[in-house]
Amino acid sequence: MLLYHSPIFEKHDTGNHPECSARIAKVNEMLDHKGWIERCTKPNWIAATIEQCKRNHTPEYIEQLHRWSDQGAGRVESDTVVSVGSWDAATLAAGAACDAVRRICDGQETQAFCAIRPPGHHALKDAPMGFCLLNNVSIAAHYARSLGCKSVLIVDWDVHHGNGTQASFWEDPAVGFVSIHRFPFYPGTGRKDETGSGVALGTKVNIPVAADTGAKSFLDQLATKTQELAQKIKPELILLSAGFDAHIADPVGGLSLESEHFFEAGKWIAQLANEHCKGRLVSLLEGGYHLQHMPDCVDAHLRGMDAIAPG
Ligand SMILES: [Zn+2]
Repeated sequence: MLLYHSPIFEKHDTGNHPECSARIAKVNEMLDHKGWIERCTKPNWIAATIEQCKRNHTPEYIEQLHRWSDQGAGRVESDTVVSVGSWDAATLAAGAACDAVRRICDGQETQAFCAIRPPGHHALKDAPMGFCLLNNVSIAAHYARSLGCKSVLIVDWDVHHGNGTQASFWEDPAVGFVSIHRFPFYPGTGRKDETGSGVALGTKVNIPVAADTGAKSFLDQLATKTQELAQKIKPELILLSAGFDAHIADPVGGLSLESEHFFEAGKWIAQLANEHCKGRLVSLLEGGYHLQHMPDCVDAHLRGMDAIAPG
């Protein structure tokens, strides 16, 4: 498995905020403690290029983000903070996703996990949103397409709807998107009847679930709907927006999942990748705000992926 981790992600300084530097520090501690750093392949990689970012974001927004970071602008949106270190962290996060896609499309490895922040799935083409600056998973999907991947499937199990990702590919039939999320909840989108438009109609699948939904129902619904979409779009690569804020103790989100449910979820998604695209799977960290449970969820997720032999 390819593993992307870096202390630079701690330099996106949000202050007293749920999406804080301590999140990634705790994940890095766990990766070391549990032996993942020793066992995984750790590629050297560089920040996403402007060209890669521009496939998903407007040039104006990219320039604005760079300026905000240079200025250490602080709160740039109701929930989102930019500090002096944010540009380096955000472009390195998107760069990790792209590097993982390139190496996996080259056939060097089949599985990757990117322990990155800031998260990305709420970021819009022309604006930051909901703790997110650059939409890492969307940038990675565009990059995969540019490398010749005919069809990409994005699975988003963060407890919040991946509205930014959905918007990126709303009219693009080559990128399927399935999101399971608590509803009604932030950001307010992700109704069942949001399915894409024009030639992309039916390639976006939303599974809104009530706050009291049990873990088994959550995972069963995700598996059933994702299987249907995968059969339809025949992906050559699966990208995962791996948020861990559906954990029962999460201070921001919270559903009924326990850490070990992410072991099951990790096995499931790796099996799905085996079945549809020769095991090719890139998992990107999104949300998850409990400083103890979130790293445990990441460990369980990696154990699940690792338990499934690629291919
Ligand atoms: Zn979330």
